[in-house]
Amino acid sequence: MKRIAVFCIPAHGHTNPMLPVLAELVRRGDQVRFYSFAEFREKIEATGAEYIACDRFLPELSAQEEQALKNVSTTEMSIQDIRITIAMTDFLQSEFDSFRPEVVYCDSACFWGKLAAWKFGVPLVVSTSTFAFNQMSSQYMKQSPQELAGLLLGLPRVQKEFKRLREYGYQAKSFLSMVASDNATDSVVYTSKRFQPFSECFSDHYAFVGPSLFTDRQPDKQTPRPLVYISLGTVINERPDFYAKCIEALRGADVDVIISCGKALDPAVLGELPENVQVFPYVDQLGVLAKTSVFITHCGMNSVSESLFMAAPAVLYPQTSEQQAVARRTEELGAGLRLTDDSAAGIRAAVTAILQNPSYAQAAAECSRDFRSCAGAAGAADFIEHAPNPSDGRDIVKELNRDVTAEQIVYNVLAVIIGIILFQFVSTKWLWVYIVAGVLLNAPIKRAFQKMYYKKLTGR
Ligand code: UDP
Repeated sequence: MKRIAVFCIPAHGHTNPMLPVLAELVRRGDQVRFYSFAEFREKIEATGAEYIACDRFLPELSAQEEQALKNVSTTEMSIQDIRITIAMTDFLQSEFDSFRPEVVYCDSACFWGKLAAWKFGVPLVVSTSTFAFNQMSSQYMKQSPQELAGLLLGLPRVQKEFKRLREYGYQAKSFLSMVASDNATDSVVYTSKRFQPFSECFSDHYAFVGPSLFTDRQPDKQTPRPLVYISLGTVINERPDFYAKCIEALRGADVDVIISCGKALDPAVLGELPENVQVFPYVDQLGVLAKTSVFITHCGMNSVSESLFMAAPAVLYPQTSEQQAVARRTEELGAGLRLTDDSAAGIRAAVTAILQNPSYAQAAAECSRDFRSCAGAAGAADFIEHAPNPSDGRDIVKELNRDVTAEQIVYNVLAVIIGIILFQFVSTKWLWVYIVAGVLLNAPIKRAFQKMYYKKLTGR
């Protein structure tokens, strides 16, 4: 029996996968304290864990900050994370003194839990509600120019806030160490090794336990006609324009349609509905997905995991870079089709393609079997109870970096030698073109080498 302190940011998508694990820990007799927020109290208490309110540490947000958070801005999320951590300093001290946790189980985006575990020297297990992202798997995230610009412009602000952490006794190595997955930290990931991109480069400190869900329900597609379910998740879901196009696309089609439009939108704004369409602010998603033949999704990790768990292939409509990664992997495994044209005609074509080609449903069923064979909440609970977990010590990322560094040295030396020879014959006024080309080519060449070495090291 262990005393386990649990931390998470106030977000359903991050909190939900922790809950079945908490229920399992409580069932085993562990003493579990979840530091969370009023919105989540009921479902935390339903697991048997003790709920501790932390709402008073959430800062007042300006309208601009609120909007940035709604748009899942990494800069804004990091800044707010740091502010909350600082506001919680005295409280964390007294909690760690009195509760004396033996393990901290903390969401990957929750700075205060990680920083407290490091500060008080308590073994940390990170809960990763998306894919584990390191230098290899993050290649799956396609950042939009807007996101990239936001990140770069926001970095000085984040760094400034970040420095303040040290004044409060937190030992944060770097901003990157707060957000990236590393091979030395125990981490639970709620997907399978097969679904995780580049899974072979993660060490034994990773437990890929599969989707963490409160259900053992089986898929059941015996519906009078195929069911199309549409949801953009719980965060960026105020899209009446998109729902209207879906309704238009499927009006009169030989399918039933359920739309979960989110609690912020009044379904009435979508006007009179065709007989085959129903709109709700929120549904029992797992129950609906069990019967679904096509899921039109924003590709949140939870939604896609639930969809594949229930063997429902997906029309992939990612909105953020993280969702892009989920979409890409689903597409690679043949269980989804990307929505490249989001007009009514494009939506109809994508739904029809999935309904007419059984390979999508077969691939989704294969993912379902794979997910159901994972260790699940019991595996996650074992891993948490045994933290810090042993590892065979092999770190493929380190080996990869060593090989790629050697390649980079060769690349730079060659570039200089070729430049010296070339500019014997070409006017030096073109030197800048040569340098720009060299810099631009560096990233794709480095990526190609990384992939080549990855294959060499892992055989995949
Ligand atoms: N969800 C639900 N009913 C709904 C819409 C969403 O139960 O009508 C749940 C869904 O099952 C999933 C979570 O909300 O567990 C959404 O998480 P996801 O990571 O997919 O997206 P996010 O909301 O974080 O963007």
